[in-house]
Amino acid sequence: MTFLNSVLQSVETGLVWDPGFSQLGEDFFVNQPPSPLPAPYWVGHSPLVGLGLGLKPGWETSDDWLHLLAGNRTVQGSQPLASVYSGHQFGQWAGQLGDGRAIWLGETSGQEVQLKGAGLTPFSRMGDGRAVLRSSIREFLASEAMHALGIPTSRALAIAGSDLPVRREDVETAAVVTRVAPSFVRFGHFEHFCHHDQHPQLRQLADYVIDRYYPECRLDAGFDGAPYVALLAAVTQRTAHLMAQWQAVGFCHGVMNTDNMSILGLTVDYGPFQFMDAYDPAHVCNHSDTQGRYAFGRQPQVAYWNLYCLGQALLPLIGEQDRAIEALETYKSIYPKAFAQRMAAKLGFGDATEHTQALASDLLKLLAQDRVDYTIFWRRLSRWARAADLRDRSVADLFLDRAAVDAWLLSYSELVAQQDQGLASDLMLKINPKFVLRNHLGEIAISAAKAKDFSVLAQLQKVLATPYDEHPEFESWANFPPDWATSISISCSS
Ligand code: AMP
Ligand code: MG
Repeated sequence: MTFLNSVLQSVETGLVWDPGFSQLGEDFFVNQPPSPLPAPYWVGHSPLVGLGLGLKPGWETSDDWLHLLAGNRTVQGSQPLASVYSGHQFGQWAGQLGDGRAIWLGETSGQEVQLKGAGLTPFSRMGDGRAVLRSSIREFLASEAMHALGIPTSRALAIAGSDLPVRREDVETAAVVTRVAPSFVRFGHFEHFCHHDQHPQLRQLADYVIDRYYPECRLDAGFDGAPYVALLAAVTQRTAHLMAQWQAVGFCHGVMNTDNMSILGLTVDYGPFQFMDAYDPAHVCNHSDTQGRYAFGRQPQVAYWNLYCLGQALLPLIGEQDRAIEALETYKSIYPKAFAQRMAAKLGFGDATEHTQALASDLLKLLAQDRVDYTIFWRRLSRWARAADLRDRSVADLFLDRAAVDAWLLSYSELVAQQDQGLASDLMLKINPKFVLRNHLGEIAISAAKAKDFSVLAQLQKVLATPYDEHPEFESWANFPPDWATSISISCSS
């Protein structure tokens, strides 16, 4: 295999490749070409991501690009690699992890390009280096859907499929998803070098991240560790905002281990994630998470815990523990504020006030008590707000406890009546999506794709790209999930 890999033909893409992460040197990665994927075929692609990378139109039908993104060629001028990181998994130090199935192809137009599922690396541990078609489609759709919702995320350029069998709970087939982000550096990269007392490398990594992605951290004058405290504060801030966005849209990540936490505050490593159907803070979307550590309602706290791990890892650079704690503690005000602001907007208000916060917190209790469908609720409320007429039962019908919801709707109608209700309703329809990637929708696209029909995937991708539009022809995708949706089981590695 190594011999085969070492002679992979390289393709001239016409793109300019930046040394990027590879300039850090070999303490940070292992040179590793992708493993060839037999007889690949196109499963999906995102033209806009291609455009952002500067790919010439037509790439999505080109054989060279198919083979490149399947891992059967390498890019001229790039040096494929797998990076090393460690991390905390489910609250425990897990030691060395690393890119076990993602191969970094290079950086171009300010974006790192990775092939996920492109074969074994020295960090594959017990894994096979592959990803299955099912999980690749889920990652592809989710990252594009999150982007359309305005939530920071890695993007997906394409999926190459193959009939190569891959064993999971059942035998499935392999696929490679090409994912793209300004950086795939994780909290776990920092934890790795701290754990091994490799402080020069730790500093080198922090300087690299600051210079490229957080140059403003250099502006903070002051003591020696100042740029690193500023980095910790900036990551804390971005992560807090990301959590507010996840919680507001009802996104459950499922595996918030520190190796899955982006240093840029992006959503990365889509695995057993779920856009919630029925609202339930105790909802656990990862079948392997038996303790419910990553339950939906715990996500903001878990992010804070993970930030402490990052703070710990940066401590040798920061020096003063109090400064690190000070930076981390900002989470406690930034997160609630950001979340309150999002909820106010979802309710149709420009600003969070005492009143909007009380409304939101009462509402979340009611939604949880009656397990109301989260996305449908918000969409119906957005329309209801226009007249806020209690005789219109479209919202109340979603609840079992009618008296409670009527009381809530009454308080809400009084508050919303203090502004232009038509305008509020219009704004709400632009912030409360009609379409989210529910598990069962992913499954519909996946089963068609398994039968080599990729049109459903393309249609779903299109609808999710404009999730606030009506798309009347796809009304059924905005409906309640079918009964079988609750039996979809998704576990960690797929
Ligand atoms: P995840 O929970 O998917 O983020 O993965 C945790 C770690 O396991 C990372 O180091 C991954 O690269 C690695 N990993 C997951 N699945 C596989 C696989 N099929 N083959 C090799 N490594 C894997
Ligand atoms: Mg991961």
